[in-house]
Amino acid sequence: MRAAAKTLDDHRDELNRLDREIGDGDHGENMSRGFAALVVALERDAPDSPGGVLKLVATTLISKVGGAAGPLYGTAFLRAATAVKDLGELDADLVARALRAALDGVVARGKAERGDKTMVDALLPAVEAAEAAAGQGEDVAGVLRAAADAAAEGADSTVLVLARKGRASYLGERSVGHLDPGARSTALLLRTFADVASGPR
Ligand code: ADP
Ligand code: MG
Repeated sequence: MRAAAKTLDDHRDELNRLDREIGDGDHGENMSRGFAALVVALERDAPDSPGGVLKLVATTLISKVGGAAGPLYGTAFLRAATAVKDLGELDADLVARALRAALDGVVARGKAERGDKTMVDALLPAVEAAEAAAGQGEDVAGVLRAAADAAAEGADSTVLVLARKGRASYLGERSVGHLDPGARSTALLLRTFADVASGPR
């Protein structure tokens, strides 16, 4: 989560710029502020289980990040926390299940489908790839790398489509030709998780 905070801080201007093109320009600000608050909360009192950390991510994002993304990511991390319960360690199957739970939470809350030009376009293929990788016996790092690769491709696919959910949908046809900022931040988060799980190279 600390690495994620750094990634989002490094990409703050880029995410703001993407959101300026089809939204209100605050997505980088929203995400980096939320994860900076998370780093502070972790320093104060770090939970001792993966589920506890995921729950802290959720409550911090829900309380510190406004707009659409705060509650959506908050719900995603909360559902992931519920999926991993109080287990001390995550294995590949559990990571895939946590990602599926996160996607279900985002969809339950935001009602977006594949191709609506939202974070779902990154997260949905990521979940499918994670489940396939776990089924093939990949380890946690392998599952997260598969998810990150699929999320990157899914985020890129948002350029070609018209936004049907969120602020960008107000633009109609004019939303075509731009990358969705939430799909990009989802891809960045999954890449970071994959890099951390893969360890130093
Ligand atoms: P806001 O749109 O309120 O300014 P952000 O800029 O932080 O919030 O986040 C925008 C991102 O939220 C979009 O790029 C999109 O990926 C995501 N988003 C918006 N509405 C939905 C939705 N209904 N379902 C899934 N994701 C959504
Ligand atoms: Mg915005």
